[in-house]
Amino acid sequence: MSDEILVNVGPTETRDALIENGVLQEVYIERAQSRGFVGNIYKGKVIRVLPGMQAAFVDIGQDKAGFIHVADLAPRNEEGVEQRVGEQSDIRSFLREGQELLVQVIKDPISSKGARLTTHLSVSARYLVYMPFTDHIGISARIEDETERERLRSVISKLADEHKDEYKVGGFIVRTAAEGVSEEDFRADIPFVFRLWSDVEQAIKKAKAPAVVHEDLPLYMRTIRDLMRPNIEKVRIDSREAFQRMQKFAKHYAPEIGGKLEHYPGERPIFDLYGVEDELQKALEVRVSLKSGGYLLVEQTEAMTTIDVNTGAFVGHRNLEETIFKTNLEAAAAIARQLRLRNIGGIIILDFIDMVDPEHQRQVLRALEKNLERDRVKTSITGVSELGLVEMTRKRTRESLTQMLCEPCPVCKGRGKLKSPQTVCYEIFREILREARAYDSENFVVLASQVVIDRLLDEESANVADLEEFINGTIRFQVESIYHQEQYDIILSH
Ligand SMILES: [Zn+2]
Repeated sequence: MSDEILVNVGPTETRDALIENGVLQEVYIERAQSRGFVGNIYKGKVIRVLPGMQAAFVDIGQDKAGFIHVADLAPRNEEGVEQRVGEQSDIRSFLREGQELLVQVIKDPISSKGARLTTHLSVSARYLVYMPFTDHIGISARIEDETERERLRSVISKLADEHKDEYKVGGFIVRTAAEGVSEEDFRADIPFVFRLWSDVEQAIKKAKAPAVVHEDLPLYMRTIRDLMRPNIEKVRIDSREAFQRMQKFAKHYAPEIGGKLEHYPGERPIFDLYGVEDELQKALEVRVSLKSGGYLLVEQTEAMTTIDVNTGAFVGHRNLEETIFKTNLEAAAAIARQLRLRNIGGIIILDFIDMVDPEHQRQVLRALEKNLERDRVKTSITGVSELGLVEMTRKRTRESLTQMLCEPCPVCKGRGKLKSPQTVCYEIFREILREARAYDSENFVVLASQVVIDRLLDEESANVADLEEFINGTIRFQVESIYHQEQYDIILSH
């Protein structure tokens, strides 16, 4: 079997699924409304210079004019290299009204303000950002290892050098995502950004201000750019239009993958293939079933994620250690997959089932390491505690699947637990006592959910009778079907 990408293009969102050996491993989702303007390049026109604010308004063809501060201006010297402009410089010595200006959006417009702009232009690929008007290589500060920084610097210089004749070479910024990435993986990025920039130059020549000359690629195009690896044999796209645009794009930017693109005209939704839709639903749940009958519990909090491994309901005594060992081995593979699928980053604590045999412990750890190797996001096992907890980290990249698709539950407010009906009943009793004293009242109506009222009328009926006697009054009940389990009201009645 081979690896493949399924692309589901809809009017409101685009979803990419990476399938390895017939199994869903990674999901990428982009929603139309979350796409902003950041990264877009415009041929704009200066409409007002504001010396007092050291800023200017630039018409970029949007409803609201964009805004640029003097510190974001980068005039070029004779060699075409950008110069720094001090905060104190007079903006009038660089800009005048009516002047055309190439600008890039660094911050999206918000309700009252237009887009924030810069003249430092750049176009980006998977691992690097190309800046045509600078002459240096910068490495993301989040890559801290000095040897790794040096390695990346020399890889980039070398690859850029290979293209010296075709393109004039500018500067680069190496993204954090590049950490640990092989030279081979970088190789495609350099010609990619050069081609991209030469297209921007063409667009600049033709454009009449104000006009957009470069827009970031939609997700289904970025898929090709970011997910393509030699072992991917097929990219199936369920929209003919997107398929044709991808073909055109591939022809120009990545000819080697053009032949791998396929239009999927199927009647069946494309995400029904390999059960992708089902797997996606399951990836939002806490419990993950294992074939052996065991299961994982995946609990994500803001600080960390814990994954707990459990055996199935019945484990015989005779082969206990063997069953546990097998369950842990299966869990090791399942955990590695869940981390990718859910895109969980940060600190992760794995709680395997306790094993007596140290050789079993070693093998489970090795199985985990081996399965983590397929993950292109950097992971590292940082320790194994005496209790057998495995502590590891996985680099945070995009939002996790849950962050992207879910919001905290308004009923339990993220606790993941509800107060039991019994707890709610006792809260109601205390509240009735308080009100009986405060208002010198004796008759009440309790509005609550079905399950709480049921309990009040059944298991708690003796307690209700005692309470009525104590307050020397009556308590009536009324089901409010729209109330959730923790919700209730107590009404005084006369
Ligand atoms: Zn909840």
